[in-house]
Amino acid sequence: MQALFDSVSENGTTDAARIQARLIESGITVDDFRLRTTIDRLAALGGRPIDQESFAALVGPELMMVNRVLRRQLVIPDWDEFCCDIQTVYDHVALDFTGANANYIPILRDADPEKWGVAICTVDGQRMAIGDVDVYHSIQSVSKPLTYAYALDREGADFTHQFVGVEPSGRPFNALDLLPDSRPFNPCVNAGAIMTAGVVASGWPNKNAREITEDIMNLWSALCGGVGPMRFSEQTMLSERETAHNNFAIAYLLQGGKGLPRQVDLHKMLDLYLSCCSIEMTANMLSVAAATLANGGVCPITCMEILPTDVVKKTLSVMQAAGMYDNAGVFTLEVGLPAKSGVAGAVMVVVPNLMGFATFSPRLDPYGNSVRGVAFCRELVERFTFHVYDSLSGGHTGCKRDPRASQLQRKQRDLSDLRWAVSLGDRYAAKVRDLMLACMIDITLADGEIEAPELVTMADTCAEIMGERPDPEELRAAAEARQRTNAAPGAAGTSPFDELLARLREERARLDDNGRELILEAAFRVACADGMIEPEEDSKLRDLAGALGITGGVLELEIGRFKRQVAGRSARSN
Ligand code: GLU
Repeated sequence: MQALFDSVSENGTTDAARIQARLIESGITVDDFRLRTTIDRLAALGGRPIDQESFAALVGPELMMVNRVLRRQLVIPDWDEFCCDIQTVYDHVALDFTGANANYIPILRDADPEKWGVAICTVDGQRMAIGDVDVYHSIQSVSKPLTYAYALDREGADFTHQFVGVEPSGRPFNALDLLPDSRPFNPCVNAGAIMTAGVVASGWPNKNAREITEDIMNLWSALCGGVGPMRFSEQTMLSERETAHNNFAIAYLLQGGKGLPRQVDLHKMLDLYLSCCSIEMTANMLSVAAATLANGGVCPITCMEILPTDVVKKTLSVMQAAGMYDNAGVFTLEVGLPAKSGVAGAVMVVVPNLMGFATFSPRLDPYGNSVRGVAFCRELVERFTFHVYDSLSGGHTGCKRDPRASQLQRKQRDLSDLRWAVSLGDRYAAKVRDLMLACMIDITLADGEIEAPELVTMADTCAEIMGERPDPEELRAAAEARQRTNAAPGAAGTSPFDELLARLREERARLDDNGRELILEAAFRVACADGMIEPEEDSKLRDLAGALGITGGVLELEIGRFKRQVAGRSARSN
């Protein structure tokens, strides 16, 4: 309790505003039911000071959760930092104006193509949203995996799979193609989704399509933890029905092939399929639904088990194999995450055990996937270790970020190991230290001057990262010696800096991600020492990063992080 109180107090006292700010910083929303009592009590307290005893009484009923939140034990502990990174990716993707709205029905054709939203929810219920995340749109094909999950849950996998396969088709979503045994390829193409609707409809002989849709909407609503009311678009449904010639053709093909489950009425089956497409939701809602799937079927913000884990496993497998229309193979290769898109412009994506997210932007690529949605996924995975096989990389991910608590703890551990190993003469640790020093010195010299704050930063960094604090004057001597070598370039006309770059390039295969990040971090710190990154320093930092194999989006995030740190520092000193 003492440590918990210390984490939010100063001189033995705190107040409601301070605690509330810390809760919000961690990504927890003020309506989170897990902290309802605490949040209500804080609101009632106003500006009154809170000592340790009253703090203990205040948080007692929700102590476990308060402790996890305030002591940064949620799945993404550095939530602020993560949000800034996501904003960077969002802004970048916003510059893409390619693609076009679906135009087969007026409501999609006339939708505002400029809308762009991203919402995220972690398995611990941390939530963020940027842009148009509260715009209702029809979920279209995003409905397909959930109808499949509903069928598995109610009718069982054996019965469901008698009628629909789980093979990727590689064919357009509305193709009139079936597997050799006359089953549709999978639940994510129209034929499979129509058949899955048939499986569901056949189990409710006394309910009409609309009543069954209500049931499915209730399932969606539970998956979303009740965030925002579900809606149904009559206009979409009418237009879908009017233009459903191809879907009718598919339905007759299914009926004429294997036959429909329990001889369900073909119109009821189609109506159920089309009404599921006409359900309306927002990116915010879909992100929580995706997080429930990421969490094995338990909704992170209500803690209710909505679907059995086994059903979720099958659903995610099908999404991974076939969720992104006939671009699913490329999407799996590049992004490596289960996802489902819909032609209104939504993409719902699951990062298992970490988070779900949803994007909304109506312009589509030729496959029918939202251009920005796909670009966001790609850019995200370029910067973060979220591709399902990033776990294979054995320390070489190009220094992609992993915001997970477990990963950050591992880094911390590796850092203290490094410190300890340097002191005992470990060769790997010594190599990392030498390269760090060399990079710091070359950044010091970037603008031709050796400045005192740079020497102090260098000494501090050595102390923090390597466990020994050299005398800044010794560092000055080393820098001056290096400056003299700089004045006399090597025989082949290469500068000492080029030689350092070549050395980094050669060493980088033998350095793990942590080692390479530390080297770059040290260089950045020196560049930021005087409160701003000069152009010469910027260009040298980029060269060093490139030689270390840290490039593209990952580097952009690193630079963003350092700029924020510098800005924070100067804001504090003002
Ligand atoms: N409602 C569309 C159709 O059945 C499907 C939309 C989609 O693929 O998102 O043709």
